Amino acid sequence: MEESKLERRNKVNTPVTKNDRITVHIEDLTHDGAGVAKVDGYPLFIPGGLPNETAEIHVLKTLKNYGFAKLINIVEASPFRVKAPCPVFSECGGCQLQHMTNEGQLVWKENMVKNVLKRIGKIDAPVLPIKGMEKPWEYRNKSQIPFDLENGQVVAGFYQSKSHRIADTNTCLIQSDSADRLLRAVKEKALELDLIPYNEETRKGQLRHLVVRKARKTGEVMVVLVTKHPKLSKKDALIEFIQTIEPNVTSIIQNVNNRHTNVIFGDETNVLWGKAVIEDQIGDVRFEISARSFYQVNPEQTEVLYKQALDYAQLSGDETVIDAYCGIGTISLFLAQKAKQVLGVEIVPQAIEDAKRNAELNGFTNTYFEAGPAEEVIPKWYKEGKSADVLVVDPPRKGCDEALLNTIIEQRPSRVVYVSCNPATLARDLRILEDGGYKTVEVQPVDMFPQTTHVECVALIELK
Ligand code: SAH
Repeated sequence: MEESKLERRNKVNTPVTKNDRITVHIEDLTHDGAGVAKVDGYPLFIPGGLPNETAEIHVLKTLKNYGFAKLINIVEASPFRVKAPCPVFSECGGCQLQHMTNEGQLVWKENMVKNVLKRIGKIDAPVLPIKGMEKPWEYRNKSQIPFDLENGQVVAGFYQSKSHRIADTNTCLIQSDSADRLLRAVKEKALELDLIPYNEETRKGQLRHLVVRKARKTGEVMVVLVTKHPKLSKKDALIEFIQTIEPNVTSIIQNVNNRHTNVIFGDETNVLWGKAVIEDQIGDVRFEISARSFYQVNPEQTEVLYKQALDYAQLSGDETVIDAYCGIGTISLFLAQKAKQVLGVEIVPQAIEDAKRNAELNGFTNTYFEAGPAEEVIPKWYKEGKSADVLVVDPPRKGCDEALLNTIIEQRPSRVVYVSCNPATLARDLRILEDGGYKTVEVQPVDMFPQTTHVECVALIELK
């Protein structure tokens, strides 16, 4: 292979060079699930390798600060290594860790949280044993399945890693049985039902995505067909077909998206049959979920996570709680069961509408929701005299806005409960809070996304 420009520019004295065949000890995993070995401190990324394995590798590429290698032979395997059960594991970008036992995944995730908190945030609070799932499969309550036509054949599945090519499959082991059945059936019948898969390049075709949502507690199923055009030439046959495949269906929806975009949903949503929403429950709180609303994808572990958040909030019934980044109010309503008042703020106005509706559905009269950026709305609330005893934050991967952290440090609520989907930004934000007069009491990791490298944490932070 010829050297690329990037490789030449990066050419420095690396401890290994391209085409070296060496034996290494793998220490860790990257966020993409690749093994990491270090040669004289120089990291090599080795897809397929697991921590604590000794392996022969072939160096493919060396850059200034890291390189890539191919796994040739495992000399000593990790005790956690298993054969990935999914037939398309190596192609599909959905899961990264199916070649590891559930126990192995949990050990790695817990250690990763500990290391990241120490390295990035210099946080030495105790990290509790991670809460995993007993059956870490079929946990997803939502599947968004893209369709395509390849050489006249309908393909459907999930996108390959960092690409828009579909890894064609007939099953996904982390999705519901309903989604599995519908995936296979729609794939088989699509052409007959005049649902020619849409092609992203030619922009021709009709069926873009099949979205299946299943409520864990009620068993209700929603099927959404995202199509390019509003017209469905075999609408009645389609409805009947879906009802035959999924007897628990309570809602059949069409969403129309004729834009040239990666975004799944378009603006037009039509109910083809049944209700516009399905209903689910987390703990004792009911939620109505529409085709486009955000809802946590692993309801069983969401309950574990929210119970922990509620425990950490230590509510006696007299407190005012602020729930920042509240989405459709899932955590807010969970807290409202035990608090005097909950104020929720979220940047997406539609989600705030859902939150208000769900509060009403459950008969809560002690909640208030406002749309806007948390870092602007919360300081405004304080100015208006609305102050909080406990502040809960559940930000996206990039973590909390610094202005919000500064507001917390100025206003000094006695407790902060931080729900985080990214340990690195959690560590950074905990450091800012600790420097501002808070102390991290403990951190509880929860495995919300088994078979993937993602891990969720909830941290309790108190005024010193
Ligand atoms: N707590 C919710 C949602 C958490 S996801 C739940 O458990 O279901 C994070 C949320 O933060 C998303 O809904 C996103 O729209 C919202 N968000 C992102 N930036 C924000 C900001 N600056 N202010 C308020 N909300 C924001």
